[in-house]
Formats: sequence, C-alpha cells, structure tokens
Amino acid sequence: MIKYKLICKNCDLKFDSWFASSSEYERLKKKKLLNCHKCNSVRVEKTIMAPQLINHKSKTNEKINLEKYNKIKKTIINYQKFIKDNFKYVGDNFAYEARSIHYNTQKKTKGIYGSASKEDLKELKEEGIDAQMIPWIEENEN
Ligand SMILES: [Zn+2]
Repeated sequence: MIKYKLICKNCDLKFDSWFASSSEYERLKKKKLLNCHKCNSVRVEKTIMAPQLINHKSKTNEKINLEKYNKIKKTIINYQKFIKDNFKYVGDNFAYEARSIHYNTQKKTKGIYGSASKEDLKELKEEGIDAQMIPWIEENEN
C-alpha cells in the first residue's frame, strides 16, 4: 500500500489517498477515476513523490489496522463457525486422524479440525496429506 498526497487543481483541496501500488495510481488517473473529494473534479495530481508505506507508524494507521483486524477477525469467526458445523473436532489428535483418513480410503468421513504443531503439518504435507493452517480465535477472547 502506498499513500499519496493528492491535490485538486480545480479547488486546491489537498487530501490523502491509498493505492495498492504506484501503477494502480497511474491506471486510475488514466481512466479518470481519481476525483476530488470536494468538487469532484478529475484534475487531481500527486503533490509529493515520496510515498509512505503502510507500516509507517502513525495514529491514523493504527486505527486503520485495528479496523482491518476487526474485519478479519469477523471473517475468521464466521469461518470457524462453518468449520464447527461441518467438520469433526479431533483436538490434539489432528495429525493422527488426518493420517487415518488419508491411508484408509474406504472410510467416508467429513473433514476434521483440531490442533497440530508446525512440525506435524510439515510431515503431513510431505506425506501428501492436505492440511490447512488457519488462524483461530478463542470465542471467550474479545
Ligand atoms: Zn476539488
């Protein structure tokens, strides 16, 4: 993410805008999709060449990050709910259960979820067993 300070050539308003990259800025400008927040003019230009990166610490960025985090957290919680409804919980036996499903092809079972160490996941992967690691939020955590 890159932040540019933009200026409206029509009303002189200066404002900040975020772009995925400098080429995205160019692309939006070319398509006349950049416009002034105040007068809607498309005569908007970059004022400074030095872009600020998102990891630059400032209060505004922290607020953005917190909002982003809450959004992501909500997604994770929804995802967890889906997993709980559709997958079988195996707790710490994840690696064992994953193997028994993998090597016993007759056994029709729904997906499983549980906890496994990074080493377990690495070993499972080497054995060709598909396992995904997802962030997990404890529900009592607020
Ligand atoms: Zn303007």
